[in-house]
Amino acid sequence: MEFAKPLPSYLVKRYHGWKATTYSENQVWYRRLADEGQRPRAMVISCCDSRVHVTSMFGADQGDFFIHRNIANLVPPYAPDGDHHGTSAAIEYAVTALKVAHLIVLGHSQCGGVQGCIDMCKGQAPQLDAKDSFVGRWMDILKPKYELVADIEDSVEQARQFERQSVVASLENLMTFPFVSSAVDQGALSLHGLWTDIGAGGLESYDPYQKKFVPV
Ligand SMILES: [Zn+2]
Repeated sequence: MEFAKPLPSYLVKRYHGWKATTYSENQVWYRRLADEGQRPRAMVISCCDSRVHVTSMFGADQGDFFIHRNIANLVPPYAPDGDHHGTSAAIEYAVTALKVAHLIVLGHSQCGGVQGCIDMCKGQAPQLDAKDSFVGRWMDILKPKYELVADIEDSVEQARQFERQSVVASLENLMTFPFVSSAVDQGALSLHGLWTDIGAGGLESYDPYQKKFVPV
């Protein structure tokens, strides 16, 4: 394990700052969370992108959100095949063990993963087409939605629409999980689709009746 190095000093400093302020001022709350366990009301599935600041956007405290992040906030279809499924495991735990009331999929503007999928669909990303590209094979989840945006000529608008489709695809795939669809049918769980515009600080929510995203 010689390859594991001590934490960079800027992070050590930040940690001690947090311990002396945020932690110290909320020590009782932290202790209670540790003793009583977590009871988050919502799970959020968002992109790994460092600009998507889920807890800050919703003023969430520790214990509020059960968060899973992956490339392009995608949920794969239900596939109980014995393989390693990190996203499916997180969803299973949130829905069956924590019994969250809300499951939120949060997409975002300027998503590199979604852009990579567009490039693949246009035949412009041979490196993502390679069988051993984890990103490429992960983005295959979104490929079937490309036909919905293929005719959009403006590349920025096309990417924004495809980012919204990544949220729709995830919501649809969530319902292929038996424990998700039964919780939804029982009224114990509600699914929500969101898309945030990073530069403008905007937030849109998927409206199932209009079948489009509308500003929150
Ligand atoms: Zn992204």
